[in-house]
Amino acid sequence: MFLAASAVMNQTLRQMQSGRAMNPTELEWLDRRVVWHGFTQMAEYQPLVIERGEGNWLVDIHGRRILDGVSSLWCNLHGHNHPRLNQAITAQLGRVAHVTSLGMGCDTTATLAGRLVEIAPGNLPHVFFSSDGSSAVEAAIKLAFQYWHQSGAPQRTRFVALRSAYHGDTTGTVSLGGVEHFHRMFSPLLFEVLRGPFPTCYRTAAGSDPKDLCATYLDELETVLDRHAAEVAAIVIEPLVQGAAGLIVHPPGFLAGVRRLADRYGCLLICDEVATGFGRTGKMFASEHEDVVPDLLCVGKGLTGGYLPMAATMAASKIWDAFLGPIPAGRQFFHGHTFSGNPLAAAAAIASLDLFASEQILSHLPPKISRLQQKLAPLDDHPHVGDIRQCGMMIGIELVADRLRKTPFPSDLRRGAGVCQRALQRGVWIRPLGDVLVLMPPLGITDQEIDLLVETVILSIEAEFS
Ligand code: PMP
Repeated sequence: MFLAASAVMNQTLRQMQSGRAMNPTELEWLDRRVVWHGFTQMAEYQPLVIERGEGNWLVDIHGRRILDGVSSLWCNLHGHNHPRLNQAITAQLGRVAHVTSLGMGCDTTATLAGRLVEIAPGNLPHVFFSSDGSSAVEAAIKLAFQYWHQSGAPQRTRFVALRSAYHGDTTGTVSLGGVEHFHRMFSPLLFEVLRGPFPTCYRTAAGSDPKDLCATYLDELETVLDRHAAEVAAIVIEPLVQGAAGLIVHPPGFLAGVRRLADRYGCLLICDEVATGFGRTGKMFASEHEDVVPDLLCVGKGLTGGYLPMAATMAASKIWDAFLGPIPAGRQFFHGHTFSGNPLAAAAAIASLDLFASEQILSHLPPKISRLQQKLAPLDDHPHVGDIRQCGMMIGIELVADRLRKTPFPSDLRRGAGVCQRALQRGVWIRPLGDVLVLMPPLGITDQEIDLLVETVILSIEAEFS
């Protein structure tokens, strides 16, 4: 095994030195042995190396076409290799690829900031750019912390996050996180967070009336706020859907209730729309479903149509104002990334927003959302499908051992991964979160592709349990 690996390594290195293109075996070897893939057990990883994208399809180095059923980790909106996005990036490339945003700006980035302010819920007139979703949330928590420090309430240093929350993988955002499996191991590194409820509508307390769920969860949150009223800087929430927790869809009214509680207890509300933003839930932002305007809004993933790494933290005026003052007062935000506001990414983001307008992307979503729901209906009675959760174009299908008792499978059976593997054999790429199958196709998916996606998922589930 080792000898075989080093033989391929030597051959691959020689190939690289000679400057000739590598063959699929060598590329797969590099992808498996050199690239360290996130959230992936590298001892078991089977390389799947993509060479290009065509619309909602990915094409691997063997020429195999695979439908991208999770929008390349929830970020692609309009399909891959889109001519308008490509053109926008190329045009920007002909001017300047990158300039720092520390002490100077760029016309493209400034234009994007204005466009984001136009479409954001309510009045969030300031935009702090960063490179990925984790950094956008990290910036939000530091902004909230420094805001209170400079607004006469320096004791407001704590954050309330929900149980099973996921806000990214940097140390600060992992502190907010509550997905046991991902986060527990890092606990000695983390700051302590106050925990709000886990607002699920599936595994609820025995005998609870679904109608009362929202009030129950809000009461639970209020108890935490009540106990820590003076110390809370902000509540951080993934509005409507907790993605990485397993596509947990909150009961209607929960988000609006959280906004009311933030106001009542005088703390900030940070909405992490990294996953839910840019049309995923059927509206531009999930917060709009409940007419909620956060104090800080984090966006990423779909901001550039899923083309380039860029994220942003949008802020209310009162937050911006608290950072103003003479330089020696040291009130500026002490935070900034090398690639913040990168113009290539900004050009892609503007092109993506232009597509939203010219292609009327949002008004084409309702029939796609209903089609997905209808096509999934045959799974309603499947003995191993416990729950199908959908919020717009975000879908989670929870596989269970016992449907009536909602008993999970032992995790080592890896049923979710098994179904995804079967779907891949049939040419459809989806990824599980444990035993929850996630379907999150690009917004531009066609009816035919929706049918193929769902039919393949159904067939794969049937095959897994036959
Ligand atoms: N917040 C939420 C809600 C997310 O779903 C994610 C990523 N899945 C992040 C933050 C982190 O974003 P990134 O992976 O771009 O750092």
